[in-house]
Amino acid sequence: MARIKLLSTDFDGTLIEHGANLRCTAAMAEVLLHNKHQGGFWTINTGRSLWHAIEGLDEFHPPVPPDFLLTNEREIFHRTPEGRWVPEHHWNHTCMERHAELFSQADDLFAKIRTHTTEHPGINLVEENDEPSGVITSNEKVMEEFVAFLENEIRTHPDFSYQRNTIYLRFSHRDYHKGSALAELTRLIGLTRADVCAAGDHFNDIPMLDGLHASHVCCPSNAIPEVREIVLRSNGHIASKRAADGVAEAWHFFENAP
Ligand SMILES: [Mg+2]
Repeated sequence: MARIKLLSTDFDGTLIEHGANLRCTAAMAEVLLHNKHQGGFWTINTGRSLWHAIEGLDEFHPPVPPDFLLTNEREIFHRTPEGRWVPEHHWNHTCMERHAELFSQADDLFAKIRTHTTEHPGINLVEENDEPSGVITSNEKVMEEFVAFLENEIRTHPDFSYQRNTIYLRFSHRDYHKGSALAELTRLIGLTRADVCAAGDHFNDIPMLDGLHASHVCCPSNAIPEVREIVLRSNGHIASKRAADGVAEAWHFFENAP
């Protein structure tokens, strides 16, 4: 009897590594086929946008496609039998509305962020529809400094949060992250957290690795220390192998556990 009925994997750093081979490894391909064969679902849970995730998938070339894509750390798409990606309308629409409302009340905060990014080199403000959506920094040290500034500023905006992944940061509502998107997907397909395995490597993966939304959590050996600590605290598996081979190792660990 399969233990894992929904496998949620981050993409960058978890299935592929920057500068490395972008193809699915043999060990991961075997796990994806095995998972499919025993009726399990697979979702990629990423900070990438939909088109960027699809682009990455083309390069990754898995033996079976994912059943779902969770994108921008908060939106849900499911794959039709014809291979089209269809939005989960209710969730995605509510998500969009709640962000619009949050951001419309954040003029003072955005003004401070604009000033800060102008005065500090190495921080690029990303805007979508004339509204700040996040920042990209020149390196991770600059990101750490920006996060310290942002943490201080959002203390007066309790619903305002952010998702951070290496040099990328996206502003978000505190209720929307990889964990809540995964929980909604789990609910939509009639499963519970006991059926779910989540794998990630960086800060933006922590909300799906804290044990609240997935019983089985893991990270590849290249995960950052903060992720390793969360996985350890959630009784998860820290793989001895990197990226996709580490995820495959963890999948076997959970499936074969007594
Ligand atoms: Mg990652």
